[in-house]
Amino acid sequence: MDGHRQLVNLENIMKSFNQNAVLKGVSLEINESEVISIIGGNGAGKSTLMKILTGVYKPDSGTIRIGGEIVESYNPHVAHVKGIYLVPQEPVLFPNMTIEQNLGIGHPGKLKKSELRAKAKQLMEQLEWNLDLNRMASSLSIAEQQQVEIIKGLLRDVKVLILDEPTSSLTFAETEKLFRIIEKLKANGVGIFYITHRLDEVFQISTHAVILRDGKVTLKGDIREFTKDMLIQGLLPIDSEKKGKFSFVKRRVNRVKEEPVLQVRGLSGDGFRDISFDVYRGEVVGLAGLVGAGRTEIAEAIYGITKPYSGQVLLNGKDITRLSVRETIDQGLAYIPEDRFLNGIFSITSITNNVTAQIIRNDRFFLNRKLERTVTDEYVSKLRIKIVDQEDEIRSLSGGNQQKVVISRILATKPQLIIMDEPTRGIDAAARSDIYNIIGQLRDEGYSILLISSDLEEIELICDRIYAIYRGRCNVCLEADEIDVTNVMKAAFGTYEGV
Ligand code: ADP
Ligand code: MG
Repeated sequence: MDGHRQLVNLENIMKSFNQNAVLKGVSLEINESEVISIIGGNGAGKSTLMKILTGVYKPDSGTIRIGGEIVESYNPHVAHVKGIYLVPQEPVLFPNMTIEQNLGIGHPGKLKKSELRAKAKQLMEQLEWNLDLNRMASSLSIAEQQQVEIIKGLLRDVKVLILDEPTSSLTFAETEKLFRIIEKLKANGVGIFYITHRLDEVFQISTHAVILRDGKVTLKGDIREFTKDMLIQGLLPIDSEKKGKFSFVKRRVNRVKEEPVLQVRGLSGDGFRDISFDVYRGEVVGLAGLVGAGRTEIAEAIYGITKPYSGQVLLNGKDITRLSVRETIDQGLAYIPEDRFLNGIFSITSITNNVTAQIIRNDRFFLNRKLERTVTDEYVSKLRIKIVDQEDEIRSLSGGNQQKVVISRILATKPQLIIMDEPTRGIDAAARSDIYNIIGQLRDEGYSILLISSDLEEIELICDRIYAIYRGRCNVCLEADEIDVTNVMKAAFGTYEGV
């Protein structure tokens, strides 16, 4: 493309899983010093393509050339030797090893232990990440695990580096620092494939972009030939695969007659500014936006985990700004955090303990074993949680059922408003529609729900109203009949012009 040496060339790659054709003839090449962003909606085949490039999956047909030569029998070891490395979308660290041990795994023996340590520390300094290399991987949050995976990739002496949604749990500031490192690699001739949903990043970091849609490349070229709207088109889901089985009758609250349950007025804090919105009784209000847009920070300030700089939060007209978590719970707020495995549940304790934990912490009533069981039974049957025995460990449940336990626990406190942060992230389709049904049920019972979601189809499906948060600012409110994937997408990317 720029007269730089070609690093890798993929030609007409096809891949099916059973009957599911995922890649339908994809051709792609990368040269030295190119940063190629790969854009595509969920399930477009991005991760599969990158796994083929690193020898994890074998293509059904097609040709892989590395440094101009066709590779016949390709596998992760060959990829490794040739200097092709993938930082995976989902962290895959060994939980019972330290960060340092994880960093060393699969590292070609050239680097001594002390050198590895020094290099890792230097990288962390550049990124301003404070991770103790002696910590066990099992003690890390998902975001920290992803940081370790990124460092692991950056430590390697690579020719082609693939970053599969590396910034999905990074803040904008962290992303900037990562970009400086990427710039350096690029200057040294490294070719980088970069997968992201944050379109601003694409223009900032890439030399080229490729749109992958339903297993085919529909557009590729120099980044200067692309506009943001072209990329947005590439991300839109294909109509036929909408999560259609589920129908949700949207509610339109009469906001003139009724009083809001939650009012947020000009709230500013770390990562967000001048946010105003309200939620009425029996309404699902979405906070749409990209991962990192500031939505979780807003939720944490409302719930009392952090203190806002200015502005007001009112619950049923009562000022609850800057109350502690314990106090906001007492006032009737509930919050189900995103990283449920680490923050939301105590994964080693029993299901019963999890359902009642919030009540106990609440000190509202003293619970004896019998009462604990009654509360648990009630919600287990109400939410159709599939369990064998109440005393089973919660981690023995599937993701969807774990999430239902978390929701039960919250309901036991009889909240006025429930904030749910990415309630279906990492949950399979069946459990997902269960959760949607629960949300609908709760709404119809009169609960108010504030839903934070990066899944645009989810927002379209279950929200009665949405506010879009873009880079810490609340820029757009969409009413039920204005909510569709295109509008939400534009609002989330800051290009919505109104109707
Ligand atoms: P993307 O990264 O663009 O979101 P993926 O490459 O992860 O998409 O997935 C594309 C499609 O391939 C999806 O329909 C997914 O279910 C399917 N798929 C991916 N990996 C496997 C696998 N190991 N077995 C079966 N199906 C898979
Ligand atoms: Mg993927």
